[in-house]
Amino acid sequence: MNMPDPLAKTAAHQENGPPNEVAAPASSSVDQARIERAVREILSAVGEDPDREGLLETPARVARMYAELFGGLHENPRVHLRKFFTEKYDEIVLVRDISFNSMCEHHMLPFMGQAHIGYVPNGRVVGLSKLARVVDVVARRPQVQERMTETIADLLVEELDVRGVAVVIEATHTCMTIRGVRKPGSLCVTSAMRGLFRSNLSSRSEVMTLIYGKNR
Ligand SMILES: [Zn+2]
Repeated sequence: MNMPDPLAKTAAHQENGPPNEVAAPASSSVDQARIERAVREILSAVGEDPDREGLLETPARVARMYAELFGGLHENPRVHLRKFFTEKYDEIVLVRDISFNSMCEHHMLPFMGQAHIGYVPNGRVVGLSKLARVVDVVARRPQVQERMTETIADLLVEELDVRGVAVVIEATHTCMTIRGVRKPGSLCVTSAMRGLFRSNLSSRSEVMTLIYGKNR
């Protein structure tokens, strides 16, 4: 995305927040030519010939792929939460099984799974697809699952003034399945509870039952 960020100005006061909170990046888009040069270097470094026929298009292909996978760095997830509507509903809203793919920032290998987001509104409700959009923007960055989980929860607290939010993420990390300890099938589960889901045990069990209910 090369569009100028319409919210860059309002988000400027957040520049001291964690990496995911930075809305206005240092550069406005992914530098694909630079990635191409780097990929050529990596191919040479592992002992390949980057000029052999099968690899000629690879640097450009990988550059386009990274531009896609890291495109979330150049988007502000808050945009999607600012299109809320006013509604008196004050029970749990839950969107379960939001699929995502992200990239582990320690190994630059993908991790993928499902995010579940439950919140209790305080007058502000967003369209359900907006929650999926927020997950998508936050996921398309160099990430760690723990930070991703907390970032999504904090965004809902800050933008929607929710009474409570619960974010649970379940993911498999290819850096654990195809390399290192090589444990296919292992699942990493993280959760972030805010507001009444943090302070009130029965609210927390209610949302966890909805997420892990018997129809799963
Ligand atoms: Zn990793």
